[in-house]
Amino acid sequence: MKAVVTGGAGFIGSRLVDALIGHGAEVHVLDNLSTGNRGRLHAQAVLHQADIRDPEAKAILAGIQPDTLFHLAAQADVQRSIQEPGCDAGINIAGTVNMLDACRESGVRKFIFASTSAVYGKLERMPLAVTDPVQPISYYGLSKLTAEHYIRLYHAFYGLNYTILRYGNVYGPGQTAKGEGGVIAIFMERLKNNLTLPINGDGEQTRDFVYVDDVAAANIAAVKLGDRGTYHVSTGSRTSINHVVRELQRIRGEAVTVQYRDAKEGDIRDSCLDNRLTTAELAWQPAVPLEEGLLLTYKSWQQQT
Ligand code: NAD
Repeated sequence: MKAVVTGGAGFIGSRLVDALIGHGAEVHVLDNLSTGNRGRLHAQAVLHQADIRDPEAKAILAGIQPDTLFHLAAQADVQRSIQEPGCDAGINIAGTVNMLDACRESGVRKFIFASTSAVYGKLERMPLAVTDPVQPISYYGLSKLTAEHYIRLYHAFYGLNYTILRYGNVYGPGQTAKGEGGVIAIFMERLKNNLTLPINGDGEQTRDFVYVDDVAAANIAAVKLGDRGTYHVSTGSRTSINHVVRELQRIRGEAVTVQYRDAKEGDIRDSCLDNRLTTAELAWQPAVPLEEGLLLTYKSWQQQT
C-alpha cells in the first residue's frame, strides 16, 4: 500500500504512520507542522511540509499517486473554532475539499476521514448511534460535519470511495495538553509537575476514552472494509473523570490531589458512542483497556524530559 497521511506529524496521525509502516506500507505525510512535530515522525515516513489548503498540496499528491489517503490534518481545537470560525472552516472544510479534489486528480482509491463525536453537539442519548441526529454546538463540530457531507457528495459525483470515522475522546502517549479531548493529557502534564488536578464540576461526567493505537488500527481496518460507511471509533463505554483520577492514583501509588471547580458552561454531561456497527463491519474492536492505556500514557509522560 502507498498511503498519504495528512496530519501525520500530529498526535493521532503519527501513531497511524507507525502502524502503517509496521504493516509494510510506503507512507508519505502531508503536514504544515502547525501543531504537529517533525520529531514524532517514523524515520521511514516521507514528510512533505505543506498546507492542505494550498494548490501545492495537490501537486504533491499528484507526484506521490497514493492508493489511500487518511485525512487527519485539521484545526482540532473547539475553543479556537469559536474564536476564529473562518480559520476553522478554511482548514476543516476548504482544506478537505482541496484534498478531495487532489484525490480525484491523483486516482486515489480510498479517502479515510477523521471525524468526531462533536457532530452530535449536546445530544446525550446513551450510547449514541451513527444514525442519531447531528446538531453541532461548535464551529469545529460543524466544520467536521460539513466535511463529512462533502465526502459523501464527492462519492456521489465522482465515485471516490470513503470511510468516515467519528472518534470518541482519544488519549495516549504524545498527546499535548491542549485541543480536543485533552483531559487525560492535562492530568498527565500536571502530575509530571506534581500539581493538583483541576476537575470541572463534580467529576461524575463521563466520556468515551479510546486509546490512540486502537484509533490507528480502526483506520487501517477501513482500508479494506467499511466502504461508504460512517463509524464510531470508541469503546462504547462511559468513564467518569473521577474514575480516571482513581486509576491515576493507583498507577502512581500515592494520593493525587484534586481541585473541584465550577462546571464548564456548554460541556456535555455524558458521552458514549456505540461501536457495535464498527466491530461488525470493520472487524475491529478496541484492544487496549483504560487501565493499560493510562499506564502506557503515564509512563511516556514520566520519561519525557
Ligand atoms: P493534532 O493537532 O495533534 O494533529 C493535527 C495535525 O494536522 C498536526 O500535525 C498539524 O500540524 C496538522 N495540520 C493542521 N492544520 C493543517 C493544515 N492546514 N495543513 C496541513 N497540516 C495541518 O490533532 P489530533 O488530536 O492528532 O487529531 C487528528 C485528527 O483527529 C483531527 O482531524 C481531529 O479533528 C480528529 N479527532 C481528534 C480527537 C482527539 O480526541 N484528539 C477526537 C476526535 C477527532
